[in-house]
Amino acid sequence: MGTCESTISLRRMGKELDVLSAIERAICPDIYHPAVASDGLLTRLRIPGGVLNSAQCVAIAQLLGAIGLEYLQVTNRANLQLRALSRDLAPELLTKLAACGLAASNTAIEGIRSMMMSPTAGIDARELVDVRPLAAAWHEYLDRHPELGILSTKFSVGFDGGGSVGISDRPNDITLLAVSDSPMERLRQREFSLYLSMGDRGDAPSPVGVRLTLAECVPMLAAIAQSYRVGILALGGDSRRKPRLRSVIHYYGLAEFSAIVRRELAGSRHFIFKNSDLEPDPISANADCHLGVHPQRQAGLYYLGVVLPLGRWTIAQIQGLGSIAARYGSGNIRLTPWQNLIIPDLQAVDLKTVQGLISALGLVQTANHPSSLLRACAGTTGCQFSATDTQTDAIALADYLAAKYSLDRPLSIHFSGCDKSCAQHDRADITLWGDNPNPESPRYRLEIDGLTAAFTTESIDLLPPERVPIAIGNLIATYHQNRLNPQESFRSFTRRDRG
Ligand code: SF4
Repeated sequence: MGTCESTISLRRMGKELDVLSAIERAICPDIYHPAVASDGLLTRLRIPGGVLNSAQCVAIAQLLGAIGLEYLQVTNRANLQLRALSRDLAPELLTKLAACGLAASNTAIEGIRSMMMSPTAGIDARELVDVRPLAAAWHEYLDRHPELGILSTKFSVGFDGGGSVGISDRPNDITLLAVSDSPMERLRQREFSLYLSMGDRGDAPSPVGVRLTLAECVPMLAAIAQSYRVGILALGGDSRRKPRLRSVIHYYGLAEFSAIVRRELAGSRHFIFKNSDLEPDPISANADCHLGVHPQRQAGLYYLGVVLPLGRWTIAQIQGLGSIAARYGSGNIRLTPWQNLIIPDLQAVDLKTVQGLISALGLVQTANHPSSLLRACAGTTGCQFSATDTQTDAIALADYLAAKYSLDRPLSIHFSGCDKSCAQHDRADITLWGDNPNPESPRYRLEIDGLTAAFTTESIDLLPPERVPIAIGNLIATYHQNRLNPQESFRSFTRRDRG
């Protein structure tokens, strides 16, 4: 979901926006400040923690109807993205969104409301801590601190309860990961390890050797956010130029930045941020582990993970899933950073009915379906940097594979229109990179597990889009025919094949 797409040629859009307006819009958009993209205006609804209720689903479906969009997209931050808008949202629409919690009533903080939560928070039998109250407390803090509106609109905080669907490997600026040194202390010890973003764009945040009690978490987040604000001002940032947290940390150095944070905390505790090998690495959840039916920690209840192909969610599906959640669940839907969603709190007796209703909406619920693990960036329709129409090509591939192949294990396939890889931060099994040596004939460069695989041939290294389905189908057939056994994953197979 690229944001660099905002700096585009206005002539190409044919819109009457002056240059200053375009520069002001060249930021990560929020609902009050759309950005300019190749296909029109682009905006995002921040959904703190990714949790929607059924009333909000109704409001979102009405919004799409009012502005003439057929679908929106769940982003890899578990927010909602609307694109190809012809104008800013009307004030009465914004008022309605704010009234049902889909926009901040204080416009200053709308852009920094991104907060990611384990999508199974509070329902995961393996989690150490239910982080929902923590995320809510952080949201309340932001609401009371509009001065933080100066932070980058990409700023986001991750809350990971240490369960089976972790998000600590997602590229948030700050992550709090629940940890326990002893399995015996799982329920008693509620500590969080602090992680800060210091690496390259798209990297997971790194542990900085600080453990926090539950009560210390929000004060620490507040102190870091306020220190980040101080750093932005020191770097000469303003409403248009907003350095990321990692730039501020690099500017000061980690030790000096931690001294600033300590001062913000008014000396309530001594600590020094340092690169720490002692803390656990960010936990990577399989991108598909939430799909399908799973028992919850609450006896007799289940959650159901549903696939949204390329994160697309149509009006009918929003209305339909909102109704299903209200009728059979607790009225909530949880968006995931893998651009899918979860319906929690379903009774065993209703599962078959719910699955049938969801299938009738055209949505699948299994990780093995070809559309389950496809990712694609905006592509040529939405990004001036794209060499290829990634979205169209990805859907064509999913349709082809669904018709011809039966996958018995999940497989991740990523389409990227250029080498920036906006839509995926981790390595896919198969990646198709847009390449455009000749503007008349876009091509894809094929990589398998990050490398050109030994069993690919010269002829399929650079693929025209129309040959992608057959080439990928052949790869899958090769894997199926030559793997050691049905349990061998595609990644293990290709690595073995390389020797
Ligand atoms: S083409 Fe490149 S810059 Fe544009 S959205 Fe895709 S990955 Fe991002």
